[in-house]
Amino acid sequence: MSRTAAGHLETLAIHAGRSADEDFAVGLSPVLSSTFARAADGSYPHGYVYSRAGNPGRDALERLLAALEGGAGAVAFPSGSAASMAVFASLAPGDHVVIPDDVYHGTRTQLRDVLQRWNLRHTAADLADPDALRRALTPSTRLLWVETPSNPLLKISDIAALAEAAHAAGAICVVDNTFATPVLQQPLRLGADLVVHSTTKYLGGHSDLLGGAVIARAQDQRFARVRDFQTKAGAIPAPFDCWLLQRSIATLPYRVRAQAANAAIIAGFLQAHAGVAAVHYPGLASHPAHALAMRQMSAAGAMLSFQLRGGRDAAMRAAGRARLFTRATSLGGVESLIEHRASVEGPGSTTPDDLLRASVGLEHVDDLVEDLRQALA
Ligand code: PLP
Repeated sequence: MSRTAAGHLETLAIHAGRSADEDFAVGLSPVLSSTFARAADGSYPHGYVYSRAGNPGRDALERLLAALEGGAGAVAFPSGSAASMAVFASLAPGDHVVIPDDVYHGTRTQLRDVLQRWNLRHTAADLADPDALRRALTPSTRLLWVETPSNPLLKISDIAALAEAAHAAGAICVVDNTFATPVLQQPLRLGADLVVHSTTKYLGGHSDLLGGAVIARAQDQRFARVRDFQTKAGAIPAPFDCWLLQRSIATLPYRVRAQAANAAIIAGFLQAHAGVAAVHYPGLASHPAHALAMRQMSAAGAMLSFQLRGGRDAAMRAAGRARLFTRATSLGGVESLIEHRASVEGPGSTTPDDLLRASVGLEHVDDLVEDLRQALA
């Protein structure tokens, strides 16, 4: 999937978004200014007034993000959670949202703990089951939130079919593309209206920043509302973080593909291990939606989760013995991470207690397999 409508992804990742007047300097520089000077006649010669309204580095990052996802525009945020908040805030009180039954727990808690008080209602449904989706839709449903692969069970849902179902119900289809990245999956081309990212993860890629983004298929009224949430509600990423992100995205296609190749080998190792009861990885032929994943994605990604035969104690023990995999939440960085997901999600978590989630990094895969072998021994 390296070819997009705008060109090859590897080339776009390095060149898209950069403006012609930056070309004299090969390296990127952040514009660390909160405000911009006016000319003697009161005009703004470079078009910039104040960094909440616009900053050159943020504009370049947004052009880059739009090019990678094949969108008409992008809005950058200081976290993935601010990005999802901007999307939900574009709805009206009384509107209804359908979310997957397996979804990043922060999306669920945002709707429950923040947005329910503003009378935005939601229902969780198994999006792989058309009947469950039909039951979840109401006359007030205005947004279908899709996360595929899902966090943490790596469930796969059919973006094209769901976008069609959402549109037929008078709703928009939003896809959280954090796990797959535009390198492996392009939801706007499959009919989605908006793509959301936690750029904290693969796009940032080095576990040193938080960020988020919304990329839109059209520059319509909804896009304007998402933009308003950034500039008027003040949900803006710092210039330094925009610069870090643009710098990291240059290597995104190569990082993601190499991490996914490592993950495929690790999934195979785990599946054959006597201490492992189940492996959740869409690249395995045993995954219930393997065929759909291979149709919709160019590779299965670098996230996986697995359940241990000895229950919670065995899972905690294995995580405790890991040496190369760092015990930490988050994902998408060059370093491999492992976590006991249920205890991170806290009370109300629906994640099995015997489950570990792994974010596979760029270390040599033999070293990663060896680490898991000794941790599971
Ligand atoms: N979406 C997914 C799939 C995530 O995994 C996360 C964070 O883990 C988020 C959204 C939220 O992003 P952030 O932590 O940048 O607010």
